[in-house]
Amino acid sequence: MSKVTRIEEVQAARELEGSDIEPRRFKVFTDKNLDKIEHLSRLDDQTVFEMKVVSSVLPFRVNEYMINDVIDWGNVPADPLYQLTFPQRDMLPPEMYEEMAALHREGADKKAIKEKARELRERLNPHPAGQKEMNLPTDDDGEVIDGLQHKYNETVLFFPSNGQTCHSYCTFCFRWAQFVGDQEFKIAADDAARMQSYLLSNKQVSDLLMTGGDPMIMKTRKLREYLEPLTGESFSHIQTIRIGTKALSFWPYRFVTDKDADDVLDLFRELVAAGKHVAVMAHYNHWQELQTDVAREAIRRVRDTGAEIRCQGPLLRNINDDPEVWTRMWNEQVSLGMIPYYMFVERDTGAKAYFEVPLVRAWEIYQQAMQKVSGLGRTARGPSMSAGPGKVEIQGVSEVKGEKVIVLRFIQGRNPNWVNRPFFAKYDPEATWLDQLEPAFGEKEFFFEAEYRQMCEDARTFLEGKKLV
Ligand SMILES: *Cc1c(COP(=O)(O)O)cnc(C)c1O
Repeated sequence: MSKVTRIEEVQAARELEGSDIEPRRFKVFTDKNLDKIEHLSRLDDQTVFEMKVVSSVLPFRVNEYMINDVIDWGNVPADPLYQLTFPQRDMLPPEMYEEMAALHREGADKKAIKEKARELRERLNPHPAGQKEMNLPTDDDGEVIDGLQHKYNETVLFFPSNGQTCHSYCTFCFRWAQFVGDQEFKIAADDAARMQSYLLSNKQVSDLLMTGGDPMIMKTRKLREYLEPLTGESFSHIQTIRIGTKALSFWPYRFVTDKDADDVLDLFRELVAAGKHVAVMAHYNHWQELQTDVAREAIRRVRDTGAEIRCQGPLLRNINDDPEVWTRMWNEQVSLGMIPYYMFVERDTGAKAYFEVPLVRAWEIYQQAMQKVSGLGRTARGPSMSAGPGKVEIQGVSEVKGEKVIVLRFIQGRNPNWVNRPFFAKYDPEATWLDQLEPAFGEKEFFFEAEYRQMCEDARTFLEGKKLV
């Protein structure tokens, strides 16, 4: 058999495989129709009550594919995908849980529950790390551009107005506040034009990172309005287009059988043909998300366009705080042709206490998981904290002249010159975030702190001038 026929044969077989997957209607459940989820009848009344209480404070949304094909109900409540999507009592601090549970028990009206929810959310640090204040890019007239965040020179984050939800919500989401109506950024209706005009006047930007919510929630027609113009000559400085998404896990049908699935793949092809590096930044938390036929078919189809898939996700207690889980996930990602990218530390917001893993333990898990993957899987950096001053990686635990220390470095810094300079914190097995670490060797502060303080002050002065704070 000639080589060509063999390739054709493989392709034909794959197409056949692809066509085996039946289109599926997208159906979601939220706190409003939680009672309609049949699987919940397997759980006791108390558990369902707890779900109702927690989901009146933290956002809840899960789709039927996740419920029927991905969650292993034989393993509930331990099942990682159940933990990833369904609210649990301990996701609220005990006193907050009690306050809300009391209202539900006494049959309080919607208004009272909403009021209490608003109050409790404020106590859950809805906007961590000063994101709200500090990364606002301005146009040529010095006006703040809504829906953009520009923290690192080469990369602009863009939050399209039409991509402000997801196919399901993650219980640990660090952007949870926006799903209960508290926007981190104001979103403008003409945001495609504004984003494009910002890119035109900022030729130093090479990467556009579209995020959300989830941009893949958009119909392809909308997505095209944002991305198609970037194939033009005047955008040749935009080398990379990244799309942050959980759709490959939560709704792979987006790339396989949805009406505009083929069209979105065509859009990727067009961007690739225009010389762009298209990177789908896929959010994965567990290898269990990679097991269904449709999840694998979606990956194959996306890769077939010439787009890369890079995988990232946080380390979470109760979901993936086990080196074996990461080893298997990274190995399977590599074997499916994807590229492991980041292991994140869960941010200091929302249900943080339920999911948090101490930084030292996080590094141990990373270090142990790394040992068992091939070099191609060792592209995953981390554990990394996306903190105010930048992305800080825990490089390890060491001992210097008799003092036990945690070694850190910036992967990204608000000042690019901070990147890749090792620095040292006192060993602290309990610390779960950068602000809980103290400098080693009796230093008063970390090397970047004075400069960072100044940056924060400048940003504040700027925003006060604009009457934005
Ligand atoms: C992570 C991040 C980026 C992208 O950083 P890379 O290291 O290039 O992946 C850009 N902007 C912000 C605000 C980020 O948090």
